[in-house]
Amino acid sequence: MSKTVNIDWTNLGFDYIKTDLRYISTWKDGSWDKGQLVEDNMLTISEASTALHYGQQCFEGLKAYRTKDGNIQIFRPDQNGKRMNRTNLRILMPEISEEQFIDACVQVVKANEAYVPPYGTGATLYLRPFMIGVGHNIGVKPAPEYLFSVFCLPVGPYFKGGQTPVNYTITSFDRAAPYGTGGAKVGGNYAASLQPHQDAADRGFADCIYLDPTTHTKIEEVGAANFFGITKDNKFVTPKSPSILPSITKYSLMHIAKEYLKMEVEERDVLIDNLDQFKEAGACGTAAVITPIGGIEYNGKLHVFHSETEVGPVTTELYRILCGIQYGDIEAPEGWIVKI
Ligand SMILES: *Cc1c(COP(=O)(O)O)cnc(C)c1O
Repeated sequence: MSKTVNIDWTNLGFDYIKTDLRYISTWKDGSWDKGQLVEDNMLTISEASTALHYGQQCFEGLKAYRTKDGNIQIFRPDQNGKRMNRTNLRILMPEISEEQFIDACVQVVKANEAYVPPYGTGATLYLRPFMIGVGHNIGVKPAPEYLFSVFCLPVGPYFKGGQTPVNYTITSFDRAAPYGTGGAKVGGNYAASLQPHQDAADRGFADCIYLDPTTHTKIEEVGAANFFGITKDNKFVTPKSPSILPSITKYSLMHIAKEYLKMEVEERDVLIDNLDQFKEAGACGTAAVITPIGGIEYNGKLHVFHSETEVGPVTTELYRILCGIQYGDIEAPEGWIVKI
């Protein structure tokens, strides 16, 4: 490593840090340019960009991990590339090839290698790919030009203190409409989540849980993470709905539960009135990894799963295997790891 940076790796949070280089590519007249790494972390765009007025923008999130032998690897970037293209299709933004997407991520990690936290600190290099509609436009229609960029920053564990259960409350707000953009990783869903999150935080909860927008009887998302529960007969259960954002972490955990832990896996409705079926529950996502759910408050009562202070054995095992794969300590299923 040529350069060293002065960062206290063990005390990192989830705050913006400017790293050295970011990737940027422009779409114009029907195609993407070949992209480049730039030092400038500021964008200059038209005041009439669709990203600013009509929410024509999307993002992704993934991580690079330092392995025990000092190498660096990225977890399932092809899945993020595919998901970004599904989002792009939904809001009429141009497709970006999976090769260009992965190449951009690899270039950014290599160019900022000094910022990849050491193995064993619990910290990682977070990659933030995003696409925005830009160019002069005022009517509600797709933008004439687009920017695709990837920047990165070192981050610590999402919840300090690591694997500690936290409590959630049910919100009466929706983050997305039944067949709206809930399944697309667009910023508008996050704008819709700011107030419910604030309300939950003000009342001492880690975040809120969204129910299905049609009937408000089924669990959908846990803040900006997916939900899973472990039933009393040891099945891995996670809700299914078009307004849930398909979490890559969730699909990875389903595979781990099935193939590594030989559990039955079900994607089906999870009724808020039937939480008793679960002995453990958790929230999962790239940032959250696995956050054990201590309890869920609903109609003024807190339903506690395994414990409010201790992590359950199945959640612990899922976490150990997922992190083992991500940090290169456990052999990964084919195609899950891209080595830098
Ligand atoms: C990104 C995101 C997730 C987690 O997806 P991962 O691919 O596991 O990081 C879950 N819910 C929402 C709403 C998201 O935006």
